[in-house]
Amino acid sequence: MTAGTGESEDEHTGESSHLSQRAQETPPSGIRRFFELAEEMDDLISLGVGEPDFSAPWAARSAAIDSLERGRTSYTANRGRRDLREAIADHVRRYDLSYDPDEEILVSTGASEAVDLAMRALVDPGDTVAVPQPSYLSYGPTVSFAGGEVLPVPTRLEHEFALTYSDLERAGAEAASVLVLCYPNNPTGAVMTREELADVAEFAREHDLFVVSDEIYAALRYDDDHVSIATLPGMAERTIVFNGFSKAYAMTGMRLGYALGPPEIVGAMNRIHQYTMLSAPTTAQFAAIEALQSCDDALAEMRRAFDRRRNYVISRFNELGMDCFEAKGAFYVFPECPPGWENDEAFAEELIHEERVALVPGRVFGEGGRGHLRVSYASGMPELKTALNRIESFVSPD
Ligand code: PMP
Repeated sequence: MTAGTGESEDEHTGESSHLSQRAQETPPSGIRRFFELAEEMDDLISLGVGEPDFSAPWAARSAAIDSLERGRTSYTANRGRRDLREAIADHVRRYDLSYDPDEEILVSTGASEAVDLAMRALVDPGDTVAVPQPSYLSYGPTVSFAGGEVLPVPTRLEHEFALTYSDLERAGAEAASVLVLCYPNNPTGAVMTREELADVAEFAREHDLFVVSDEIYAALRYDDDHVSIATLPGMAERTIVFNGFSKAYAMTGMRLGYALGPPEIVGAMNRIHQYTMLSAPTTAQFAAIEALQSCDDALAEMRRAFDRRRNYVISRFNELGMDCFEAKGAFYVFPECPPGWENDEAFAEELIHEERVALVPGRVFGEGGRGHLRVSYASGMPELKTALNRIESFVSPD
């Protein structure tokens, strides 16, 4: 992320002459400072992290244990176990996506690795990558690692942070070769309808943009079914879709994700992956097969719990005068700072010190984030209630 991390320069201008230019230029995550503050405090409630509070479904954990008991601890095929790729191909049919397990699916070490591989497979030094903002923090640095330049494309609250054709035009995105999409979105919780995606797809086709679509929150959509841009006419051949097990199946620590796309792009990603990662974690692959085959009920239960929390936090923020649009996906809401507080960073810092509640200032996520706060509702109801009560005493002290 280059814009608005709020970090001081001296933290990332390394002194050592052995450090590469790239290492020196890579900023620490803008979220980090808040976690460090949070770690120093007792009795702090963090609504800052993008991680489910649930454990992975027992059946998935049990499959992992069983694989260990049977001594299945060797590497897998570079692309991932074939039975897992088949299970992924079956699973994504629920989104009308159809991919060949042999050539069009790559199992990666988290969706994170897949994002990095896609940037390296698609971006040449000097290429421009259009990144709608506010955005998840990994896209900017992975574009830079590939030698590309980020073109921020601000999205707007008036469209509930869905990307529009005119946002792309206004930002000059026709100059880009790659467009990143992330819906349901981190950090805003925004989703995009088929009609909204159709406009973006039209722009991509007209200007020959390749789309990198991070759909890791596809299963966490509360109003309607998830729509992938790759299902729209002429898009499968110009889109890489990412998904994974971290969010929907609460498997963040298992580090497993996947990429779906045209054979030549997935093949190129696999060539890079075979040197840098070799294969994704084997134990996690066994857990993932089970998750896909038998954990739909557990997934639905987690989604219902998230939905209840979502409704609760949205109504509480609106009651507090912190305007909060109805985010329909992922597990984030993106309320505005209350009147009198223009600066989200100052608000978040004072809230930590005064009330011991950690939220992430919106500016960390780039353009369009200022004046907002990212709130993760991936915490239990009692914690959410206490956090909201504390925020209430902070914004309306009697
Ligand atoms: N994409 C988005 C939008 C995310 O929010 C995250 C996790 N915070 C990731 C990718 C990374 O997921 P994984 O754990 O699969 O690497």
